[in-house]
Amino acid sequence: MTGRASTGQRVLVTGGAGFLGSHLCERLLAQGHEVLCVDNCFTGDKRNIRHLLAHPRFEFLRHDVCFPLYVEVDAIYNLACPASPVHYQRDPVQTTKTSVMGTINLLGLAKRLKIPLLQASTSEVYGDPALHPQPESYWGNVNPIGPRACYDEGKRCAETLCFDYHRQYGLDVKVVRIFNTYGPRMNPADGRVVSNFIVQALRGEPITLYGDGEQTRSFCYVDDLLEGFLRMMATPPGFAGPVNLGNPGEFSMRELAHEVLELTGSASTLEYRPLPADDPRQRQPDIALARARLGWEPTVALREGLIRTIEHFRGVVDAVC
Ligand code: NAD
Ligand code: UDP
Repeated sequence: MTGRASTGQRVLVTGGAGFLGSHLCERLLAQGHEVLCVDNCFTGDKRNIRHLLAHPRFEFLRHDVCFPLYVEVDAIYNLACPASPVHYQRDPVQTTKTSVMGTINLLGLAKRLKIPLLQASTSEVYGDPALHPQPESYWGNVNPIGPRACYDEGKRCAETLCFDYHRQYGLDVKVVRIFNTYGPRMNPADGRVVSNFIVQALRGEPITLYGDGEQTRSFCYVDDLLEGFLRMMATPPGFAGPVNLGNPGEFSMRELAHEVLELTGSASTLEYRPLPADDPRQRQPDIALARARLGWEPTVALREGLIRTIEHFRGVVDAVC
């Protein structure tokens, strides 16, 4: 395998114009790699990579990963997939296709080129977990026919494909299960809780709490997550994971709302709305495996990460208003 931790590789990032993908492209360029960013701009935005377009080692290709891709690269990070419930439920068939057909196409590319592929999987493979916190050995509790299934089952099938390519063809796959991650460049309109609350607070609009606000999530700052990606990609061939990547700090949505209100100094009120179908009650990663195999753990506390994210959204909200 071409020295994956070395500089000067040509790296493919699918979903590279999205929130996580655009930060990953930056990190890889900073390490001296060439980056081929592939995205169909379904939920991503060229503005996320505008500052990279003139970089001599950066290339953008508009392409839907549901169709085969013939390029020459040394490693693949497969992030292409709408990630917020609002977006992945807008065209659920396309969401499943993106996870399943997209991952098949990229695994095929990795197989032809004999290169590693890191798959951006998700804590959603655990569904509404009956085990808490969630270790990688937990098989999950997913409703296969509910409104979230296009995403959850699509990602589960993508994991199946990764492990079958690994067993059947010896492909060097790396599966990471990402828990809720936030930071600058989240799409302000994609309905995810951190961006929703911050934008609502900055605009002085009511903070929309779904259900009783007691459901929990664990929020990881984007820089921490990407450090985990890079460490995972640098593990020896044969280590496929899956590995949980997330911040074990667990907060209820009501606590998150109060934190955002305090940090923004907003006078917004709380507005309770119905809980969406199949919304998981709790979620917290067990990161013992990431600690042991990657020497990784998050370093940015929620408060610090929120301050950085609010700073970013002040610019966005000011620009729109
Ligand atoms: P995002 O929506 O900002 O990024 C996804 C990107 O994929 C977008 O740029 C979108 O245009 C692109 N895309 C979607 N369908 C595509 C297709 N068919 N062909 C090419 N490009 C396509 O979301 P994100 O938060 O940056 O998520 C990136 C990846 O990480 C996703 O695979 C998501 O499932 C996974 N993930 C993210 C989180 C999180 O909390 N951010 C949690 C778990 C998993
Ligand atoms: N949520 C909320 N208000 C919002 C958006 C989301 O209370 O305006 C809740 C949502 O019901 C869920 C949690 O916040 O319980 C996280 O939602 P998100 O869509 O960010 O991520 P996911 O449910 O995929 O973990």
